[in-house]
Amino acid sequence: MRVLRNGRDRRHSGSSGPRAFEARTGSKQKNDDLLLPFQDAEAGIGPLSGIRRYRAGRDPGEVEVPASLEPVEILPGVLWLRVDQPFALDHVNCYLVEDYGGWTLVDTGIGGEIGSRQWDALLNGPLRGTRITRILTTHAHPDHIGAAGWLSRRFDAVIYSNADELNRLRHMLRSFDPAEASRNAAFYRMHGLAGEAADALSLQDHRYAAFVDELPADIRHLTSSEVLDIGGRQFAVIIGRGHSPCGMLYRSLDGTVCFSGDQILSSITPLIGVWAENADENPLDDYLSFLASVPVQISDAALVLGGHQMPFKDAAARALSIRRHHEERCAIIRSFCGDEGRSVGDIIPVLFPKAKGEMSIGFAFGEVLAHMHYLAARGELDTGRAGDWAIQFTRTNP
Ligand SMILES: [Zn+2]
Repeated sequence: MRVLRNGRDRRHSGSSGPRAFEARTGSKQKNDDLLLPFQDAEAGIGPLSGIRRYRAGRDPGEVEVPASLEPVEILPGVLWLRVDQPFALDHVNCYLVEDYGGWTLVDTGIGGEIGSRQWDALLNGPLRGTRITRILTTHAHPDHIGAAGWLSRRFDAVIYSNADELNRLRHMLRSFDPAEASRNAAFYRMHGLAGEAADALSLQDHRYAAFVDELPADIRHLTSSEVLDIGGRQFAVIIGRGHSPCGMLYRSLDGTVCFSGDQILSSITPLIGVWAENADENPLDDYLSFLASVPVQISDAALVLGGHQMPFKDAAARALSIRRHHEERCAIIRSFCGDEGRSVGDIIPVLFPKAKGEMSIGFAFGEVLAHMHYLAARGELDTGRAGDWAIQFTRTNP
């Protein structure tokens, strides 16, 4: 395994930015008792003085949700902050980890005008004096990598991602091609969407471009064999596929914390989808494989810090519950398809009766087709054609 240390951290260790947790306590010992006087003594003084600090004796999983743009220290040396976004899921969790005198940021929230305004407010407010030395992304969705380019330029910070994630992002941000849009709309109609919904979905990707800042050319590509040294703590990279092509989770080798991105969240299931651009893929199979690996990859005691919602522990139990959720959906789909032959468009109202509006219909479409691909690959559904073109699925009787 390769251990990566951010070389820039050492060069800047004498800056006025916030000092490492151990330095402030005057000890390498992470003894909770040492924190209480430290917490009182530091309140209201120096960089990050307005931030609510980690308190000894508290279960970090029970910390209250931080208000938008008001970071809290959820573990010693780990800040949790929320940034807003103009979507149904209205926030993203980002994390700052103390790192040899600088800070490593895990995910950035959206970019564009909204993103830079929020980061300006953070860096001129509660994070004043903070120097971000590198940016780890969990995956390349706009709400996780969107502001990485802007932050990278502001701090000369290195961005970490990987080729599969960046390729999908580039595809999402490609310039509009009418011929491709027309092909994609035909794909969605073939799967039972009405003309208007099919046209809207064929354009959906292009709406995200406004939320992603231009990325620098030199991005560090990570693999699953790497270990990152963040402020003296070792973090292994876990590759988690399904929600995105090649997501990355960062698990501390001491078993205390795991940054999980969207691959595993506290109470919503991440979107697992097939659309025109990944029509040959079976991401639900990838995702269920990831969930099956969680008990051996993430300690039950680790505090899981996801890209949305709340921190939680016992990742294995959460993985099992998500697995069951998908199994239930598969059972509903098989039963509904029966011998009749159903299209994705037929199934959307069954699985997602509340889906209204272009964005939620688009998500529902992707999620249903991902389940159809999974079931077809397992031989539990047959794929056929109604008339010349409409793709329908029927249940097999093994
Ligand atoms: Zn995501």
